[in-house]
Amino acid sequence: MSDKENTYHYLDYPYVSKSGYLTFGLCKYKFKRIYMEKNVVHAPKIAMEGTSLHALFFKLFDIIDYRVLIDMSYGSPKDCDAIANYFYSIMITEIPANFKNRKIFNNIKAFCYMESDHWCDLRQHYDSIDKIKYYFHPSLNDRETFFYVQDHLIFGSMDRIMYEKDITIICDFKTGNVPSKLFKPESYNGVYIRSSVISQLKSEEGNFYGMIYMICRLYHKFIKQPDGDYKCFDSHDKEVKKINLDYAFIYTNEIVNGKPAYMVARRHASVTTMCTILRKLDELRACKNYTREPNHYKCCPGEVPCPFLMTECREFYSDKFGTIFTPTIIRNPTNNQ
Ligand code: SF4
Repeated sequence: MSDKENTYHYLDYPYVSKSGYLTFGLCKYKFKRIYMEKNVVHAPKIAMEGTSLHALFFKLFDIIDYRVLIDMSYGSPKDCDAIANYFYSIMITEIPANFKNRKIFNNIKAFCYMESDHWCDLRQHYDSIDKIKYYFHPSLNDRETFFYVQDHLIFGSMDRIMYEKDITIICDFKTGNVPSKLFKPESYNGVYIRSSVISQLKSEEGNFYGMIYMICRLYHKFIKQPDGDYKCFDSHDKEVKKINLDYAFIYTNEIVNGKPAYMVARRHASVTTMCTILRKLDELRACKNYTREPNHYKCCPGEVPCPFLMTECREFYSDKFGTIFTPTIIRNPTNNQ
């Protein structure tokens, strides 16, 4: 395993990550406490665990015997299942024997289904094995790639950069539960399909990565205009309004009909949204008043409560939310971060 595959990167404030940016949008006080004053140290640990799982995912591409794979049939769902089983049989050899976390096995199995569908899809579209391998096998430069942008003091790691014929896809692997509202039923099948149900937050998240990719890989520039808005220019100083760039959130922690399954929410990136993000980043940097704005959604998003809810923001707990939080959270608030 190379250092690149196993390293979690982080830059302190004034650099801002996607998570810091989204947190500021939710609660300025939480942003100040976590990202400026570094009061919570658990978030990087979660990210490091995800990074280790991704490194395991990428092992697949390095241990596949392509001579075996190319000889396998790929035309039917049964063929795709056989390929997924082949992937799983070799990936399982990479998991340490004392490994106990069953969830990881499901993540890996779902990943194998996804890459088997990906492989079968490519085989049906292209004759050239070199081309198929080019689209299938991620180069080291396109896995777990860390970028930072000095001009805007932002950074981020992209899990995988993928290519299709006319478009690049920034992929973000999600190992947590699939947000039920993210998918429409018809988007449960297929590889790298689009979902129209990506929320505003997810849209900003995807475009945050997309913007970093455009600056660092395509050498585009986002320049502030006299009115405070931003415009995007390519390396020849020509204004860019449309791009061939998608972002995709890939969930590998779902069970469908008793079997591990993957889900992909994919959307086209938008220069307009990227410019909006930069304008909001200017607001973040100009902020002087880190107010608390408690409500259920902000203080308890999803299953994980804000780490300050049971400590410095405790007054909001019983007054505003009654008994909606579980006793587990009350007993052990900090471990839930
Ligand atoms: S508990 Fe709510 S108000 Fe307090 S820091 Fe967290 S999100 Fe903000």
